[in-house]
Amino acid sequence: MTSTLITGIGLLSTQSEIDDVRDAAVVLDGDRIAWVGIGNDAPAADDRVDVGGRAVIPGFVDSHAHLVFGGERSAEFAARMSGQPYSAGGIRSTVAATRAASDDELRQNVHRLTRELINSGSTTFEIKSGYGLTTQDESRALRIAREFTPETTYLGAHVVAPEYADDPTGYVDLVTGEMLDACAPHARWVDVFCDRGAFDADQARAILRAGMSAGLAPRVHANQLQHGPGVQVAVEMGAASADHCTHVDDGDIAALADSGTVATLLPGAEFSTRSPYPDARRLIDAGVTIALATDCNPGSSFTTSLPFCIAVAVRDMHMTPTEALTAATVGGAKALRRNDVGSIKVGARADLVVLDAPDPIHLAYRPGVDIIHQVWRAGAPVRRAADER
Ligand SMILES: [Zn+2]
Repeated sequence: MTSTLITGIGLLSTQSEIDDVRDAAVVLDGDRIAWVGIGNDAPAADDRVDVGGRAVIPGFVDSHAHLVFGGERSAEFAARMSGQPYSAGGIRSTVAATRAASDDELRQNVHRLTRELINSGSTTFEIKSGYGLTTQDESRALRIAREFTPETTYLGAHVVAPEYADDPTGYVDLVTGEMLDACAPHARWVDVFCDRGAFDADQARAILRAGMSAGLAPRVHANQLQHGPGVQVAVEMGAASADHCTHVDDGDIAALADSGTVATLLPGAEFSTRSPYPDARRLIDAGVTIALATDCNPGSSFTTSLPFCIAVAVRDMHMTPTEALTAATVGGAKALRRNDVGSIKVGARADLVVLDAPDPIHLAYRPGVDIIHQVWRAGAPVRRAADER
């Protein structure tokens, strides 16, 4: 294993117990961080990289993405921007395109999107199923997702499959039975869309319980389209994360604050559906742990860029630049119950992003501009410095 000294760091945002460090250096040893501190004190290493005064942050952790799908829905987006409302039903058009796609077509699409994620600084990402909705298509999606990440989520309960439109109970039986058996070996998490047009509280509980019995840990799509029971179900079931949290009341916020459940905010979805943003300030001020994620999917949030989500969170959700960066790094790690990613500390995985900027404030201050200079993932450079590309 070779060690690398990354030096000349103008500002290091650790997102750990160590405060931000000026004139810092980090030593990577193999795939781990071996040393963090002031540049002058750094120990010797096999290789040395000087980042010329740039800011360095942990790799982003994107804890919510739907990357296994066929087709795209730009026409639906254009229609929505000219006044048509968003509903969960649009998912079904992606289901048809996903079922029709070959394994290789799906795999190539995931590959392209994960390259986008990495190039925009995300070094850990979750991938959900949910566009197959048959036993065969859901397990295929998870097998493909597993080739790219260990953070795979079984979302057979995205919407009721079209074949079961008149028999939602029969579909819940499938999702908690044969489909679960086929999917559980390829998944770490079980998820359910508990919202209008998808699944109600009792169905969501049954789906999460079945998944937990099969060894999967729960997470929930909650309170995106309207106020409903999703957040309470997530807290009650001990979910790692309640995702969206766009329509929450005081009871939901109190329940989240008293729980180990992270509120994962997905501003790309509100941006792309022109919907009101979640009240991040109210959640943060109540002591709720927040994650920011892309929700990358072809219907309601077709972005792989956490820098974009940070810019929106700062500009339109009134999060400070520091809060938004924290939510996109260590917040995402908490939403995936991971302690080895999302922060720069000794022993953590060597996931670093070098920004072509003196301060991470530039992530929100320069919206739409690619300021990712270099990305290190598990100790390896996975996006080369801009001047070497
Ligand atoms: Zn989602």
